[in-house]
Amino acid sequence: MLPEQSEYLSIKENSVLGRYVVNGNIDGFLEKIKGKCDVKIVGRSVLGLPIRRILVGTGPTRVLMWSQMHGNESTTTKAVLDLINYLNSDRPETLTVLKSCTITIIPILNPDGAAAYTRVNANSVDLNRDAQQRSQPESRILRNLFDEFQPDYCFNLHDQRTIYNVGDTSKPATISFLAPAHDESRSISPTRAESMKLVVAMNKILQKEIPGQVGRYDDAFNANCVGDTFQMTGTPTVLFEAGHYPDDYDRERTREYIFQGLMTALHFIDVDKVSKLNPSEYFLIPENQKRYFDILIQNAHIIAPSLKKGDAIGLLYVETLTNGTIDFVPKIDKAGSLDGYYGHNTYNCLIDSDLKVLKRHSAVIKLLSVF
Ligand SMILES: [Zn+2]
Repeated sequence: MLPEQSEYLSIKENSVLGRYVVNGNIDGFLEKIKGKCDVKIVGRSVLGLPIRRILVGTGPTRVLMWSQMHGNESTTTKAVLDLINYLNSDRPETLTVLKSCTITIIPILNPDGAAAYTRVNANSVDLNRDAQQRSQPESRILRNLFDEFQPDYCFNLHDQRTIYNVGDTSKPATISFLAPAHDESRSISPTRAESMKLVVAMNKILQKEIPGQVGRYDDAFNANCVGDTFQMTGTPTVLFEAGHYPDDYDRERTREYIFQGLMTALHFIDVDKVSKLNPSEYFLIPENQKRYFDILIQNAHIIAPSLKKGDAIGLLYVETLTNGTIDFVPKIDKAGSLDGYYGHNTYNCLIDSDLKVLKRHSAVIKLLSVF
């Protein structure tokens, strides 16, 4: 049912790659799809940039998705472009989706944040904490679209940091999902159960591709979050979090897994397979923990003399926008006994070959001079 990897590469939108994705990067794509999709400006950001929505399909089930509500979270934007290419590919299975569903997508809700590569908008407001107050134009645009479109399902599309692992394992949380709570007690209403079932469906497919690399996000209730607010209105909502895949800081692999998740969800909705799923399986997906560093230096006392024997140093990258590209600048996050932590890149200073490679990493070595 879902495209194989070679097939995926044939529909992947290759004009948009990497982490820095702004309005200008998707203009060509939006122009290209105009014959098959309806593209419309639905409002303007704080700094006056257009916020566009794509409408595709003619079916009775309405699905609303939005990406880059946090400007520096572009992986899901790339995935929705792939999704549109797939839906426009005239395959029998995509024609079925388009007959059953009408899909509205905002690819970049926060174009100012995207341009500045920040989470927040141009007024430094986190739009995912503005769902009740709706103090920002971007928040009002999303809410107006929600009220007008009256979706049956909402997909809230984000990136998560590299720090997350799955449960008690050393597997990175390449994808995380959340069926947001709609009340303080995190009760399971029919609406929330519906969100959980969609997550169960996507998890089953993704486990075949990335076994053990799917996590469940913390479900603490916060009415200021958009997903929680939409869930409160009785609209099943799913939060997608694109995370780290080994050696994939551009998040091109994760993009593909998000695409697969989106397609799975739409196929389950279009043939109403959702009703047959068991929502309680949602809780079998392990919760995320924050146990990863980008760089973990074990037995760091060898090169950092003020540390105790066996201590480690954990570094995280600060993603920095420089001349239109994202630099990953290492910064020390923790030092000490870091048992139970993992590194996407690990160097054990007791191993000569590791030490040699580490010593060539001049930016890191410079930071270690504080010890
Ligand atoms: Zn986010």
